[in-house]
Amino acid sequence: MSITAIRGFNDILPGDSDIWRRVEEEAYRIFSGYGFSEIKTPVAEKTELFLRSIGETTDIVEKEMYTFQDRHGDSLTLRPEGTAPVVRAYIEHKLYTAPVSKLYYTGPMFRYERPQKGRYRQFYQIGAEVMGDESPRADAEALSMLMSFFANIGVAGVELQINSLGDANCRPAYKEKLKAYLAGVKGSLCENCLRRMDTNPLRALDCKASGCIEATKDAPSIVDSLCEGCASHFGTVRKYLKLSGIDARINPRMVRGLDYYTKTTFEITSTGLGSQNAVAAGGRYDGLVKELGGPETPCFGFAIGMERVALILKETSAISKKPLTVFIALGEKAEEASVAILKAWREKGLKVMEDFSPGSLKSRMKRADRAGARYTVIMGDDELAKGEVSVKDMRTSAQEMLSFEAAAQRISLG
Ligand code: ATP
Ligand code: MG
Repeated sequence: MSITAIRGFNDILPGDSDIWRRVEEEAYRIFSGYGFSEIKTPVAEKTELFLRSIGETTDIVEKEMYTFQDRHGDSLTLRPEGTAPVVRAYIEHKLYTAPVSKLYYTGPMFRYERPQKGRYRQFYQIGAEVMGDESPRADAEALSMLMSFFANIGVAGVELQINSLGDANCRPAYKEKLKAYLAGVKGSLCENCLRRMDTNPLRALDCKASGCIEATKDAPSIVDSLCEGCASHFGTVRKYLKLSGIDARINPRMVRGLDYYTKTTFEITSTGLGSQNAVAAGGRYDGLVKELGGPETPCFGFAIGMERVALILKETSAISKKPLTVFIALGEKAEEASVAILKAWREKGLKVMEDFSPGSLKSRMKRADRAGARYTVIMGDDELAKGEVSVKDMRTSAQEMLSFEAAAQRISLG
């Protein structure tokens, strides 16, 4: 029996990888225009980092982490998300000596979830963190950047939902209010929510169980319980979103799956994905850097789900690909001359593959077709002597003799 990939771990094959590359390049381009630089952190961290940051009573820590002991007996965890590692690196390398650090990252994350369309056990995120800025304008600017990114790569039908989770000033009182409310609807809550009711009652608002959704319909809204500072912060975020021309729907039930969030949280959904429809999410985490041993540092960050973005683009968008040309040299002189011609064409940015196989011209043309060639260029010793090649348009079957220069021009057209 042959060996297959681990369940929930995917190969990204040619074709799809073109979409991935476009998405990544567009993200780098846009993010760097806002002053972000890339950071790369390891795929594994000490388990303790995630226990202390994500929160012990979250789904991720309770049941989704890939945790194992290395040969020395140390507990390691494959990163389930990118923010905690970035914060760890930020503190470890004293990046806080700069007034604001704007960092982005991309790479695989690991969560032991039920694999399904748009949900995998190894999945990729592109994320960004603004570290050291408490202004609500930083939240709005990062959101605006994210919306530009989606517009630029051609993801349509996106909706931004925002909420504020308050802070250490106002959340404790809200938690108590919510606890009291949940106590009244105890009978309808799932086991998980019952168990977490005292330690982490907010999780009930995020629960997907139908009983919990129904039972928490009339739960008190956190937006109504914000202290003055948090309410004003939230108001300014909304004002600056409006100034950026962005519509946001306020969703007071959105609490997100990580415990470190404070104030602004958000999620961006897209139509056309079915139930796994969140394409990006994030929020403010003003307490995390201090919690992990660094100085007080207000931060805002987000992560984009690569697979879901790629799924959308695969179905809807016309990502323009460079046309492929297969070059067939006939005869030894033509073969030798092809080296310099192709080198020059590639330097112009053309996508050319030479066919080195033996066989009749007919069979080589067939191979070119199967390789997906948009054009085939044929050069025999005679053509070479005249400084010409024969260019065949594989879509229309039209064939013409062109100078090297004109041929290069021709095959650059899609
Ligand atoms: P969801 O509600 O879909 O489970 P989440 O709240 O767990 O998402 P985050 O941890 O905030 O998501 O991650 C940000 C983004 O990463 C999500 O919006 C989604 O696009 C993507 N993502 C999260 N988990 C997975 C997964 N298991 N497979 C693929 N993409 C994922
Ligand atoms: Mg999740």
